[in-house]
Amino acid sequence: MPEKKYMMTPGPTPVPPEVLLAMAEPIIHHRGADFRHAFVECSERLKEVFKTKNDVIMFAASGTGGMDSAVSNINAPGDRVVVHSAGNFGERWAKIAAAYGLDVAHIKEEWGATPDPAKLAAELEKNPAKAVYLTHSETSTGVVADIQKLAAVAKEHGALVVVDCISSLAAIPVETDAWGLDVVVVGSQKALMLPPGLAAVSISDAARAASEEPGRCPSFFLNWPAALKALGNETTAFTPAVTLILGMNVALGMILEEGLETRFDMHKRLGRACRAGIKAMGLELFSPDEDRSAVVTAGKAPEGIDGQKIVGTMRDKYAVQIVGGQGILKGHIFRIGHIGYYDIFDITTALEALELALVDLGADIKRGVAVNSALAAFTE
Ligand SMILES: *Cc1c(COP(=O)(O)O)cnc(C)c1O
Repeated sequence: MPEKKYMMTPGPTPVPPEVLLAMAEPIIHHRGADFRHAFVECSERLKEVFKTKNDVIMFAASGTGGMDSAVSNINAPGDRVVVHSAGNFGERWAKIAAAYGLDVAHIKEEWGATPDPAKLAAELEKNPAKAVYLTHSETSTGVVADIQKLAAVAKEHGALVVVDCISSLAAIPVETDAWGLDVVVVGSQKALMLPPGLAAVSISDAARAASEEPGRCPSFFLNWPAALKALGNETTAFTPAVTLILGMNVALGMILEEGLETRFDMHKRLGRACRAGIKAMGLELFSPDEDRSAVVTAGKAPEGIDGQKIVGTMRDKYAVQIVGGQGILKGHIFRIGHIGYYDIFDITTALEALELALVDLGADIKRGVAVNSALAAFTE
């Protein structure tokens, strides 16, 4: 019998059976009435989850495709933009902007820092920018930024606000309209409980106007005006990822039926449980010990133990998939994701596998306490 596998990563994440079943149905034609109905319903549900009146478009792409579309559609080569980063995904904005020949002012904070709105204000006071590119949940470090404050600073200085909410949307509060976020980007394989392959992007009137100005960075496929025009006609510019959209419609229906607030509360308590378990073993956290960090929990590998070996042992010996550190954090941290289709027993399973793997690797940790601490923190 194949081994039972446990997926505990901050993307991809497990997919509920209801969604898997919807995606197992025969393919329907994307210009027919049945797909049109699901597509329109899915687009409306996306608006509810994004908390916006703006249109939300979808691309058959990973989350980065949505980010790419935000840079290429809003900007013309040579535009001055600000990227405010504190980790791997934040730095990706700067790489995309550089690829399109933009004039990038990069506020590059240390990996693990919480982006400081005062630094953004100081940069924008020196030099105005067409757009500011931000990251809500920095999945490489576990830090969740105060997007409301950062967006307010960007708005004050007349810049468009573009936010990577790829791992935060539907996991923790995101208020697209109330916080004045012009563009919000999400990917299907995080808290939306779907396989990888879909990007969704919400576009404010101001962002839309920017995308209609002449001289934008060339993009034929990731083209907002074409996608928005098609959406107005209840269809897509090209063949959409039919299966994934049918799955997304079901997943969003489940999320909305349960209620966003209930989902946020659950993620908050899963984060508490994960942190409590890691601390009870005597390990140190890398991600902040705060409720806001409810997407992914990062722990420091104990002295003398390679973080990659922790991940490898958990996967190979106990069939529990977590992830290690990226870039400069590789080998130094391990990360447990808890967004989407997770419950407390996923967390206790991951913690127990972590404990066993650490013992295998010779770490000096407190045994037999992580699971109880996690359960207590979850129900507290
Ligand atoms: C996962 C993730 C991405 C990258 O998405 P891909 O789907 O791998 O392209 C970008 N930003 C954040 C914050 C993420 O968590």
